[in-house]
Amino acid sequence: MTRRPMIAGNWKMHKLQSEAVELFNGIKDGLRDYTIEQLPEVVVAPVFTSISSVVAQKTECGCGCKGQKIKVAAQNCYWETQGAFTGEVSVEMAKDAGCELIIIGHSERRQYFSETDEMINKKAKAILNNGLVPIICCGETLEQREHGVTDAHITSQIQKALEGITTEDASKIVIAYEPIWAIGTGKTCDADEANRVIKMIRNVVKDLYNTEVADAVRILYGGSVKPETIEEQMSKSDIDGALVGGASLKADSFVKIVLGARSKVNA
Ligand code: PEP
Repeated sequence: MTRRPMIAGNWKMHKLQSEAVELFNGIKDGLRDYTIEQLPEVVVAPVFTSISSVVAQKTECGCGCKGQKIKVAAQNCYWETQGAFTGEVSVEMAKDAGCELIIIGHSERRQYFSETDEMINKKAKAILNNGLVPIICCGETLEQREHGVTDAHITSQIQKALEGITTEDASKIVIAYEPIWAIGTGKTCDADEANRVIKMIRNVVKDLYNTEVADAVRILYGGSVKPETIEEQMSKSDIDGALVGGASLKADSFVKIVLGARSKVNA
C-alpha cells in the first residue's frame, strides 16, 4: 500500500506571532508552484500563542488548494476537556484554534516536563477521540544505544503509547522515530539504521494490530534532518517522511526538505 509522505516542522519555543506568520507565508510562497497532489503532507507546529495567527494565513494560494496545502499542528496537549488544569490546553481547544494534528511525547517534553508513556497514551486517546491525528514521538538516548537496548526501549514506548487504542484509530496515527542523540545536534542517524529501527517499529504495530494497520501507519524520521539529508532518507523503504526541528525555522530550508521528499509522492 502507498502511504502519503509527511514533512512536519516542529517550531519548538521559537517565533513571536509576526515571525511565525512571516515563516508560514515564506513556506506558502515556496510551495506556490506545486499542487497538494504533488507534495507530501506538509505540517507546521507553531507555539500555542501563534497558532491562530498562522491559521489565519491558511488561504488559497492560487493552486486550488483551498488553504489546505499546509496543515497546522500543536506541539502538546492535555487529555482532559476542560477544568482546573492551569497552563494546559485541551485537544478541543487546539482543534478550535485550527490544529489538525498534535505532536506528543517529544523527547524534550519527556526530559524537561517529566512526561511518561502513560500520559502520552492518554493524550493519544484524547486526540483520536476528537478526530485529530497524533504524531507520537519515540527514541533512545545515546546511553541506551550504546547499551544495546534501543529496540527494547522503543518497543516498550510504542506498546505503552498505543495501549487501548482501537484498530480503526491505530491506522490513523503517525509515529516519529527520533533518536535523542540526533536531535538538535547536527548528527543524523545513518539512513539505513533509521530505516531498520522504523521497520522494527512497524513490526511492533503489526504484532499489536495486523499487517493492514502496520502498512497504513506513517513513520517519520527526526533528528537533524536537513535539505542535504532528506533525499537519502526518503529513498529508504520504510521512512515515510520527517519531523524537522532546526531546519524548519527558515522557510527556504524547510521548503527544500518538503521538495526533497517528493520522490515518494504517489510512489
Ligand atoms: C525535533 O525537534 O523533533 C527535531 C528533530 O529537531 P532537529 O531537526 O533540530 O534535530
